[in-house]
Amino acid sequence: MDPPSWLRRMFGAETDALTVHRNRLMAPMATVGSIVLLPLAINHLWQGRITLALAVGAVAVVLAIDAVAIHRRRQPPLAFWLLLLPMIGAAGFATARQGVYGALWAFPIVLFCYFLLPRRVALACSLGVLGVFTALVYRYVGVETAPRFFAALLMSIVMVNVVLRILNELQDALVEQANTDALTGAFNRRYLDVCVAEAIERRRRHGTPASLLLIDVDHFKRINDRLGHQSGDEVLRTLVRAFSARKRSLDRLFRCGGEEFVLLLPDTRIADAMMVAERLRALAETTPVIDQPVTVSIGVAALGDGQTQDEWMRHADGALYEAKNAGRNRVVAA
Ligand code: GH3
Ligand code: MG
Ligand code: MG
Repeated sequence: MDPPSWLRRMFGAETDALTVHRNRLMAPMATVGSIVLLPLAINHLWQGRITLALAVGAVAVVLAIDAVAIHRRRQPPLAFWLLLLPMIGAAGFATARQGVYGALWAFPIVLFCYFLLPRRVALACSLGVLGVFTALVYRYVGVETAPRFFAALLMSIVMVNVVLRILNELQDALVEQANTDALTGAFNRRYLDVCVAEAIERRRRHGTPASLLLIDVDHFKRINDRLGHQSGDEVLRTLVRAFSARKRSLDRLFRCGGEEFVLLLPDTRIADAMMVAERLRALAETTPVIDQPVTVSIGVAALGDGQTQDEWMRHADGALYEAKNAGRNRVVAA
């Protein structure tokens, strides 16, 4: 379970590389944590340290309940981040009673912060843990141990942050690769499905309009046949560069096969979409690509009420078909 939305908003925290893997990460941590902590709680009870025994026991029981839930592929019933306060409390109390042995728990607590919370919140929490436990070590262990403890915990925090940053960058690169067409750099068919589904959802929830242009290069086979496949590829790249430079910032360009492209226009009604389409058609015609003009035909369709992706695309496809039949190099609205 993630932190509540008000907490995420307050810290400006968004998803990070660990978000989708949190349960997978938490399963072994919760299992090991509960197995290690339960005997410790019993030992504290045996020694008469009732408060400590209750705090440690509570953490162990919550971890065990959540671990079982995750192993059964269910959502953990108790939010993991709720554990942080009793954990810090129990470890702080242990530091006061047992000195540096108690303070050692600050290290797994810092790891927990990063596994449980979005990164910026985790950074704030881990620095808080660093400050609190250094003060406790200074107070209950001694002035000589405090700077060593501080340096070791700070180094661990820095290293976790470096590793997470690398993970985030790798994840971003992976997502970009998965959504991009290698030849032209436009988005690909896979990502088109995601964005179209989002547009349909926005229409259903908020009534937000959206339109799409289905753009097909005219007589592309002839270009390939006459100049070769590589020149054909260069035509596609040049058109994508030209369209990308001219499209509005929120519009997204996708290559959805061969020489066929989709420009998805969020928040756009059919009349404005027609103007955008006409601008792109003229742009293709006047962009120097090969020794003869390259033209495109464009079918335009606005998203209708309750329409599915298939229906929307089929409307645009019908309009494109009409544009081809009417002689190509033109824009037709569905
Ligand atoms: P129309 O005006 O009716 O659209 O005719 P067209 O020739 O553009 O359409 P057709 O579907 O007959 O041919 C599309 C060609 O696009 C056939 C295929 O070899 C070529 N093609 C598909 N993918 C690529 C690619 O990645 N690179 C190149 N160079 N050609 C491709
Ligand atoms: Mg074509
Ligand atoms: Mg085609």
